Amino acid sequence: MGKDLERILVSEEELRSKIKDIAGRIDEDYAGKDLLLVGVLKGAVMVMADLARALHCPVQMDWMAVSSYGAGTKSSGVVRTLKDLDTDIAGRHVLVVEDIVDSGLTLSWLIRNLKSRGPASVEIFAMLRKPDALKTPIDVKYVGFDIPNEFVIGYGLDYAERYRNLPFIGTLAPHVYGGK
Ligand code: 5GP
Repeated sequence: MGKDLERILVSEEELRSKIKDIAGRIDEDYAGKDLLLVGVLKGAVMVMADLARALHCPVQMDWMAVSSYGAGTKSSGVVRTLKDLDTDIAGRHVLVVEDIVDSGLTLSWLIRNLKSRGPASVEIFAMLRKPDALKTPIDVKYVGFDIPNEFVIGYGLDYAERYRNLPFIGTLAPHVYGGK
């Protein structure tokens, strides 16, 4: 995998300590509440697994799969539900767990969709946020790291279904995706 990687942007240690911090905030914010974590497949698998284990408050977990990037590196803007929740979220406190927010298209669609089901609250935790996300009206309550506008992989994030298992966040050498 070495020659495909350009550099490490967020190390395993930085991810671990950020998860601990954010889990502490979530524990406080949701004390005494019944929290449902909604992970967005497949990218959020690692964040969800680590966050859930770092939390001390009791939670339930559910998953949604929506279409985002295909094998390329640009958002198509088209969002489709591939797998819906198994849980009825009416009256529930929902925390959407996302790997990354870029254009915000995926999340704004998802939040609209979830809010239409009458939850008690819907908030977002995104481990990574790219600069374009700041131009959207989406309010991401918990943000792990603000990163530059580069295509990143690892810790759940893929390029053509590869690299999800890297324990850190890195950038891909341009030759891998047909760049210079
Ligand atoms: P948005 O709709 O905010 O533009 O993009 C959200 C989705 O696009 C993310 O959930 C993720 O699946 C994908 N995505 C956005 N930026 C990146 C990136 O730098 N690397 C990877 N692997 N996926 C990304």
